[in-house]
Amino acid sequence: MSSAPEWDVIVIGAGPAGVLAAHQLARCQLRVLLVEKRAFPRWKVCGSCLNGVALKALETAGLGHLLDALGAVPLERIRLGLQGRQLELALPAGRSLSRGRLDLALCEAAVAAGAVLRSLCEATVAGSHPGGREVQLRCGADVQLTSARVVLVASGLGNSGLGPEIPIQTRISPRARIGAGCELDAGVRGYGRGTIHMAIGRHGYVGLVRNEAGALNLAAAFDRPHLIAAGGPASSAAAVLAEAGFDPLPAAATATWRATPALTRRSIPPAAERVLLLGDAAGYVEPFTGEGMGWALVGALAVVPLVLQGQKEWNQGLEREWARSHACLIGTRQRFCHGLAFALRRPGLSRALLVAAGCWPSLTAPLLQHLDGASHQRSTPEPCP
Ligand SMILES: Cc1cc2nc3c(=O)[nH]c(=O)nc-3n(C[C@H](O)[C@H](O)[C@H](O)COP(=O)(O)OP(=O)(O)OC[C@H]3O[C@@H](n4cnc5c(N)ncnc54)[C@H](O)[C@@H]3O)c2cc1C
Repeated sequence: MSSAPEWDVIVIGAGPAGVLAAHQLARCQLRVLLVEKRAFPRWKVCGSCLNGVALKALETAGLGHLLDALGAVPLERIRLGLQGRQLELALPAGRSLSRGRLDLALCEAAVAAGAVLRSLCEATVAGSHPGGREVQLRCGADVQLTSARVVLVASGLGNSGLGPEIPIQTRISPRARIGAGCELDAGVRGYGRGTIHMAIGRHGYVGLVRNEAGALNLAAAFDRPHLIAAGGPASSAAAVLAEAGFDPLPAAATATWRATPALTRRSIPPAAERVLLLGDAAGYVEPFTGEGMGWALVGALAVVPLVLQGQKEWNQGLEREWARSHACLIGTRQRFCHGLAFALRRPGLSRALLVAAGCWPSLTAPLLQHLDGASHQRSTPEPCP
């Protein structure tokens, strides 16, 4: 292999984190390779709701117009159901858009900005290279080694894309829930458009939202023992809907469900020599507040200045700086989400919270602010100059 790295940046994973980082860095005239192991468009377990943080990040990147172009549905309300009681709250911001459409459109924007996309290739970060990092690409039967000055790992949950040479550990919370989801066609009744319907049960929750095509997207998180005991996600979801007092969805019993690995996790540290982790790959908590894409997009904007600095010279200060700014931008919000998830696992406490919120709606302000991300908006980083 020649001594100069082949790429300025290799981005592993074309979810919102990787694709927005690739877009921004390509706009900064860097040679960017974006590697994705699946073929797009692809369905993915996700509530498909973009909150205020995510919308602001897309606008900052100059991609806000895509939402109207793709027909993203404005979200006006959230309907919470718990132990047969229901509460409806007005949402300050939000759009729902299928991940198939969103991720494909963002990918096309990154390619239009100059990034090179290799899909159906699985990447693994390998050893160091003079002035760079090696990355192994497995594209079907073809295996190649390439290199970049900086590698961004945005591989989501599950396969980290990190080889054994990289001293980063993923710690999974022992009580981490499992994500699961499916899509039901537009003919399914109930569960109106423009509302996030959130059924909360003792062993998990199910979020339902209509997407731009009218299809009903189900995204859920369940306790692992309950998921096993119930015999799979369809029966777990049916139990949660019944417990919350929501209408049953017989079509969900025969739908194709997908599951995720354990959700609550952290990568420590989120950086190594010439390697920076972002999005779910850096850390994730349960999806109750539906913020994961916001965290991923904000992380993608925030990583750009460090990648630019790393082009000239790498030093451990960049790794420390990424750990610090990641914790500051995203860690605080993940802790709030963690706290909420803790409360929801306690039936007495969550019922008391719902009753109190029904009596004194002003108590819901902090929750709505977090759903919207309003407290976060000032810290959304600016794009490349
Ligand atoms: C049940 C549930 C509901 C959710 N609801 C919402 C919601 O309503 N709103 C919200 O904002 N967030 C929600 N989230 C969270 C959101 O889905 C994630 O936080 C978000 O997708 C993270 O983006 P990412 O780019 O980090 O990872 P991903 O979107 O997971 O993208 C990672 C990509 O990397 C690819 N990849 C993985 N390994 C490799 C490899 N080695 N080589 C090449 N490619 C690789 C994968 O194929 C994938 O395309 C939800 C999550 C769950 C589980």
